[in-house]
Amino acid sequence: MNPPKEIGHPVVEPAAHATSHAGEKQQLDPGLVKSDKRGESRIGRWAVGDVKITSIMESADRIPWAPLFPAEASELYKKYDWLVPRFITPEGQIILAVQAFVVTVGGRRIIVDTCVGNGKLREFEHCSNLQTAFLKDLTAAGFAPETIDTVLCTHLHFDHVGWNTQWVNGKWVPTFPRARYLFGRREWQHCQNLLRDKTGDIRHILDSVEPILAADLAELVESDHRLTDEIWLEPTHGHTPGHVSVHIASKGQEAVITGDVFHNPIQFAEPEICSIGCVDKEMSRKTRREFLSRYENRAARLFAVHFNDPVGWIVRDTRNWRFCTE
Ligand SMILES: [Zn+2]
Repeated sequence: MNPPKEIGHPVVEPAAHATSHAGEKQQLDPGLVKSDKRGESRIGRWAVGDVKITSIMESADRIPWAPLFPAEASELYKKYDWLVPRFITPEGQIILAVQAFVVTVGGRRIIVDTCVGNGKLREFEHCSNLQTAFLKDLTAAGFAPETIDTVLCTHLHFDHVGWNTQWVNGKWVPTFPRARYLFGRREWQHCQNLLRDKTGDIRHILDSVEPILAADLAELVESDHRLTDEIWLEPTHGHTPGHVSVHIASKGQEAVITGDVFHNPIQFAEPEICSIGCVDKEMSRKTRREFLSRYENRAARLFAVHFNDPVGWIVRDTRNWRFCTE
């Protein structure tokens, strides 16, 4: 399927508060390390039939290849000149974006993945105690938090749940007070295992997931849950045991919000490369290959959470696949 040309061109706006939020530090736990990172403040808009999709970009960092990806694969990007400099710098650094997608149709306002959030202590320095303008940008884009009716997390890693909560009057409270928060049942079971076994860094579960359950705003859903006639989940397990993608179909056009099936477009050309965060690397590779085969040759437009240039199509290449933004 070749979508009409006009929908391939996003409207990208500089966010209204791109330079105005310095000094507006929220109240923090005294033990948190200070961060001067202000984020990206970039808003993009697209349409898929009747469905509108808005990207709110929280950050886009240049980070070292390893440990996000295995050090032994650090030279592979040189084989693919289409990756540089939009997705990988000439020096081999990964450009890692973090963004949320707001999906609207028929009066529904759904936010998919909620980035890292502000004032949260994390194990990676570039993600710890952020002070970005994300919430102001979201509001400036027309989506004040109280107008969001659904929060959907593709999985429950810290960079997909952060704005689920914000720090108000000394505690983490739901940022979207009128929303139902949808978490995958399998994913929540996996989190419960991590909590029980105290495996890895579980702070994001404590500060960004559990307060939602405590507020009775959470709903555990199956991996093929349907949100509207146009929007449903599809299982893409592997990165985490309950990871899902979000399928959108309207008026003959299709799109998929990919969550963490991919962290960088190099994984189109080299699908075997797994990120450090992949829980089941073999399943992650299998899922990625199946996904690329299923949607190759423009069968659906992709919206990729971690791509600096987030929207494009999968096209067949001489070796595996390529990410094509036009
Ligand atoms: Zn992620």
